[in-house]
Amino acid sequence: RVKTREGNGWTPFQEEMEEALENRHRIKNELVRALSEKELVLHYQPQVDMVSGAVTGVEALVRWNHPKRGLLFPESFINVAEKSDLISSLGRSVMEEALAQQERWKTGGLDLRVSVNIGARHFLSDNFLADLDAALSRHCRKGICPVTLEIEVTETEALKDLSKAQKIIKRCLETGIVVSLDDFGTGQASLTSLQRLSVGEIKIDKGFVGKIQDSDKDRAIVSSLVVVGRMMGIDVVAEGIETEADGLLLIGMGCRVAQGYAIAKPMPAEAVPAWIADWTPFDSWKRGATPGDP
Ligand code: C2E
Ligand code: MG
Ligand code: MG
Ligand code: MG
Repeated sequence: RVKTREGNGWTPFQEEMEEALENRHRIKNELVRALSEKELVLHYQPQVDMVSGAVTGVEALVRWNHPKRGLLFPESFINVAEKSDLISSLGRSVMEEALAQQERWKTGGLDLRVSVNIGARHFLSDNFLADLDAALSRHCRKGICPVTLEIEVTETEALKDLSKAQKIIKRCLETGIVVSLDDFGTGQASLTSLQRLSVGEIKIDKGFVGKIQDSDKDRAIVSSLVVVGRMMGIDVVAEGIETEADGLLLIGMGCRVAQGYAIAKPMPAEAVPAWIADWTPFDSWKRGATPGDP
């Protein structure tokens, strides 16, 4: 046990640090078990064209079905996984399950593009392309993939090696896989990333989207990101649409594709087909398109 520099006792702050450390350690060990015991499950959140009502895909979001603590959300374990190679094991397992689920949907007559989140550490690692190839080869036959996979990478500090990132993105594109920049706008060099990386999509961070009703600045940021994406020929998705009004404002800005609670919360795979059959956009969204728009 280390003592404080100034005193000889433990400060409450240190107790807290110690506790946090033990916590991380426990989560890490438990995650190893969770991966082998298949305690991790994917929920899926629809992504839609708010005007036409078309479902453009679903995003796979991991949850931990913890035997003692119930269903845990990624915020309570992803950052622990991201500090080690566990994030790669998790990524492999998520890609595998997403592809398997796509096949199940396909068997039921439903063709759905699925996006998976890949930690930057895994994405930039030497194993990533091999992991992706291995997963695809189990599900694509004679070079024909029954499904479309998309990869979301968060634009973080961890993605700072842009030339490496670009090499990997290009290899993904050769395999027919589009890479999307997640939480876009929150990174240190968002526009530089856009300039250097062949990304096919950006997802405007929900931190900006959630404030477009009340904040002129956030509205300006979102609106300009939509324009930049459009002018660069990159698909723009707004994440975190919580109200009908949010959606309408985005449609007015020229952003029709969105994800958020106003459309649907993430749901188990079994619930997706019925949700798709039921869903229809708000009337205001259908009318929101500028006349003459495609
Ligand atoms: P993300 O990829 O940006 O995913 C969007 C998050 O926003 C999800 O949280 C989703 O449930 C939430 N969300 C969607 N619509 C709304 C809305 O209208 N309002 C609000 N307030 N939130 C909304 P979730 O599932 O808790 O995931 C959090 C983050 O954890 C994800 O952010 C992603 O970065 C990470 N994550 C999730 N699954 C995976 C995974 O399989 N692998 C890795 N490496 N990271 C993952
Ligand atoms: Mg994402
Ligand atoms: Mg994210
Ligand atoms: Mg995001």
